[in-house]
Amino acid sequence: MLTVKGVVLNQRMTGEQDRFIDVLTADYGVLEILVKGAGKLNSKTGSATQLFAYSEFCLADKKGRSGRARMLNSVSPIRIFYELRQSVTAVALASYFSQVLQFAVLPRAGVPELLRLMLNCLHFLSQKDADEAAVKAVFELRTAALLGFMPDVIMCRACGTYLPEALTFYIEDGYFVCRDCEEPSEIPRPAVEMPAGTLQAIRHIVLSDFEKIFSFRISEKCREPLCRFAEEFLQYHIDRRMGALEYYHAVAPPLSGYTT
Ligand SMILES: [Zn+2]
Repeated sequence: MLTVKGVVLNQRMTGEQDRFIDVLTADYGVLEILVKGAGKLNSKTGSATQLFAYSEFCLADKKGRSGRARMLNSVSPIRIFYELRQSVTAVALASYFSQVLQFAVLPRAGVPELLRLMLNCLHFLSQKDADEAAVKAVFELRTAALLGFMPDVIMCRACGTYLPEALTFYIEDGYFVCRDCEEPSEIPRPAVEMPAGTLQAIRHIVLSDFEKIFSFRISEKCREPLCRFAEEFLQYHIDRRMGALEYYHAVAPPLSGYTT
């Protein structure tokens, strides 16, 4: 018997009554779990295995017929994040985060920080008046860093200026140069222009202690380049655009653009 705590990232029906769920765990990466008789679960088991639920799963030693999935023996909910469902955009973001994690977490990898990040993001998305765009940027940048794609946020790569007034952050190479050091390139490189405040927010998100990640304020002017950079940076480095992200942009209000 194996007992794990985790967040349900995905679910799909199999056969008439059974369901597979994919669960992000601290010690085993994403586990595929077979829920027998999912069509006639009692409400406690039902809610503990639904999308985005954080629960404790007791798994049988016996593996499912496919040989990969473990079978669910019993389950108890820890936190369900009901409030999340009041916002279409919050659900879209939770689905997007789930798709990223399901795609990027290696099998059987220990990922306690990613689980903690996901739980924190779900918590903040569940708040009334959540700053959803900021939660999204935090998830994207911190996930990229935890997966090994850490942007170089220290100083201008060319002249060493710590906090230039305006700068260009290159997505592929993951470093920035200040406006004065920028050299026109013949081959266009994916990059985001931003003011100093956006750089400070990026530094905060990738460098600060976990307890403080979500505690930052960002002005309207600095916000759009932060959100654009975070999304493009993660997407470039994991090399995949998620379906739920398209949906999020279709339903989310657009951010006002940044002009230099
Ligand atoms: Zn410079």
